[in-house]
Amino acid sequence: MTGPRYRFAPSPTGFFHVGGARTALWNWALARREGGTFVLRIEDTDEARNRPEWTQGIIDALAWIGIHADDPHFEGPYFQSHYAEQHVAAAQRLHAAGAAYYCDMTAADIEARNKADGTQGYQGWSRDRGLGPGEGRVLRFRVPEGSTVVHDQVRGEVTFDNATIEDFVLLRGNGSPMFLLANVVDDLSMGITHVVRAEEHLPNTPKQQMIWQALGHQPPTWAHVPVLVNEQRKKLSKRRDKVALEMYRDEGYLAAAMVNYLMTLGWTPKGGSEIADWANMEADFRLSDVNLSPAFFDLKKLAAFNGEYIRAMSPGAFLDAARPWLTATDAPYPVDRFDETVFLAMAPHIQPRCVTLADAPGLVDFLFQPEVAIDSEAWAKATGTADAVAVFRAASSAYEGLTEWNADALKAALEAAGEAHGLKLGKAQAPVRVAVTGRTVGPPLFESLECLGRDETLRRMRAAGALLA
Ligand code: GLU
Repeated sequence: MTGPRYRFAPSPTGFFHVGGARTALWNWALARREGGTFVLRIEDTDEARNRPEWTQGIIDALAWIGIHADDPHFEGPYFQSHYAEQHVAAAQRLHAAGAAYYCDMTAADIEARNKADGTQGYQGWSRDRGLGPGEGRVLRFRVPEGSTVVHDQVRGEVTFDNATIEDFVLLRGNGSPMFLLANVVDDLSMGITHVVRAEEHLPNTPKQQMIWQALGHQPPTWAHVPVLVNEQRKKLSKRRDKVALEMYRDEGYLAAAMVNYLMTLGWTPKGGSEIADWANMEADFRLSDVNLSPAFFDLKKLAAFNGEYIRAMSPGAFLDAARPWLTATDAPYPVDRFDETVFLAMAPHIQPRCVTLADAPGLVDFLFQPEVAIDSEAWAKATGTADAVAVFRAASSAYEGLTEWNADALKAALEAAGEAHGLKLGKAQAPVRVAVTGRTVGPPLFESLECLGRDETLRRMRAAGALLA
């Protein structure tokens, strides 16, 4: 595929962070719209912190949010650890060209020298010593004088005074490449044209741009996207906040809602509505429209998005999405009693009450429990007056004789029973609801009774009626 080449370059050192997911989605939208490529590169060079399961976690999480390895725009995954030789070879070219030099000073040497000179940081002391490679010698980049201007698609022109950038290390004393170098060499060899990544990498960018130029190449187009912050406006952190995308998936957030929400963290779809489908977001997303300020990762708003997506689903799609929760062994009813047909009839009445898919079983449990456990306090309260008892009895006998078992008929019969005793529908419903569902709150009552069916509803009402005697 020709066209621009974007990339996403996560380090597999933990759960997949929601901020990483947003960066990936923005890259994905751009690569697809522009007819380009999205390269996935796993930056697995930190051996102490990498684990293979984190790599699989990244690939699975990307697939969950719609970034599929079988899409023609997708390329990879590549693994940074496979290219160590190239990284070292590039460092040697920089050395040969005079853009880098070896230095044998240890951290302690540098500290002593700083103390003696009243300086801070590494002051280029080995620049002209002509050292060759050797055990314990690091290779440092010779930062030129002047300034470095980074053209950033989100932030505009950012100028760095080179005097504030010390001669940074490219190869460690054991010869292994540093992240800054490996990242550039991979971007270069993978033909990356656009680097869209987290803001925390902006301080690396002037150094990386110098490496690109010293290797004889034009740097890519840069874009540094704003950080995500929590309610206290602190940067989202693994320790403090729920940042793992996998957790949201496992808690019953819908991929489409998550994708929509993540896309809008720092960007608003055209037309002002934040609820937008992928095709529109892919068509509209522009880095130049990204907001510079930190984006608030608002759990309440995410929940609202999810609820909205759940409401918009067809009952069948909702069933498919919620099935893992509805048929889990810890569902609040015996799983073998779960009935898809009954659930599908009830679905439209519970969808408005679900924030996540995990809410579904608790809203339909009474349909599949062999017996409901009546909350005795609720029952006592619902039947606390003579009128309430009378209405319940009248409704029970009206229901026994109903010719049509549907929500309208059930409602009309209860309304009539209530009126006869001066009880509004809300009050009249209470004992019926407790008798049939065990609780005082739940999905719309008459639809619930219709779905539960005549026999079971009447059986439960009779059993509850016996409690009154
Ligand atoms: N591996 C780096 C990280 O996960 C990303 C570097 C980059 O995007 O250039 O933070």
